[in-house]
Amino acid sequence: MTQTIPATLIPGDGIGPEIVDATLAALEALKAPFEWDRQVAGLGGVQAHGDPLPKATLDSIRRTKLALKGPLETPSGGGYRSSNVRLREEFQLYANVRPARTIIPGGRFDNIDLLVVRENLEGLYIGHEHYVPIGDDPHAVAMATGVNTRQGSRRLLEYAFELAIASGRKKVTIVHKANIMKALTGLFLETGQELWERKYKDRIALETVIVDACAMKLVLNPWQFDVLVTTNLFGDILSDLVAGLVGGLGMAPGANIGADAAIFEAVHGSAPDIAGKGIANPTALLLAAAMMLDHCKLGELATRLRVAIDATLNLDKVRTGDLGGTAGTAAYTQALVSRI
Ligand code: NAD
Repeated sequence: MTQTIPATLIPGDGIGPEIVDATLAALEALKAPFEWDRQVAGLGGVQAHGDPLPKATLDSIRRTKLALKGPLETPSGGGYRSSNVRLREEFQLYANVRPARTIIPGGRFDNIDLLVVRENLEGLYIGHEHYVPIGDDPHAVAMATGVNTRQGSRRLLEYAFELAIASGRKKVTIVHKANIMKALTGLFLETGQELWERKYKDRIALETVIVDACAMKLVLNPWQFDVLVTTNLFGDILSDLVAGLVGGLGMAPGANIGADAAIFEAVHGSAPDIAGKGIANPTALLLAAAMMLDHCKLGELATRLRVAIDATLNLDKVRTGDLGGTAGTAAYTQALVSRI
């Protein structure tokens, strides 16, 4: 008998429970050996324990080192910090891996197969911000500090090179803005170039591109790229752009990988505008579950899940509304399960 794998399950807020149910149905059909420990976070955490990241949830991930997570809302007011950012810090989830692959052909961009690897803990994203009051204007000046370290950059870049090589990729592109932010993103660029020269030169190609040019090139000719590796804020923006190339946020999975844990999720948020209506597209979370299976060395199950998703969308043409179809979440899930 296959050994069970303990994993934390956070259904999350808004459409979270709907897409998590769909994903669990697919994983059950696959007989994936996860032993789930269900926990709450986000708004659900505040409602149950008065904390968006309750201790029981953190303890569970500390124990399992593995989680599948629905989207979390950070309550406005009350001074709460984003639960997602806190999870990244708590478990040192330094690499955010966001693949974008065309699943439904015939769109504006066909045959896309890109991987964005984003630094997840440093940069301008750390939220060290303050206002400087002048006269009677308390918000006269706003200031933000970005922090990149050589060690943090190297750890992420090393992860990106290793992942690119292990998954048979041909080229890594470092995306930066070192012409203007010479220290902050220059350090990341310099560290990547040194690392490639020392360790990866004979194993994979390297190119570098400035972030604004990268955005334009991604829209004009995305096929020129393979793996994009970049700092936190640029990665946040470019990975949404890249998701747009393959059908939008409903198709974009993400993995947060760290030294102490790995957390898998959809890139999109809790979609409060469609929550409870039974029309959410669970594909992004399903693809995140496939990444989780790969991570647990269950690649065969991951492939079966991806093949079933392909077949449901393209052969059966069962699609949710965001993809121009008429199926609700339940009908899509049923069609998917019958393909597994
Ligand atoms: P969103 O991604 O929730 O929604 C943007 C648009 O995309 C909406 O019109 C929504 O209906 C649609 N959409 C998103 N996912 C979909 C799906 N699976 N199927 C069909 N349509 C889908 O972004 P938002 O509205 O800016 O954010 C809502 C909340 O989610 C906020 O509280 C935000 O902080 C949170 N959020 C959480 C995460 C996370 O937990 N990883 C990520 C992003 C946003």
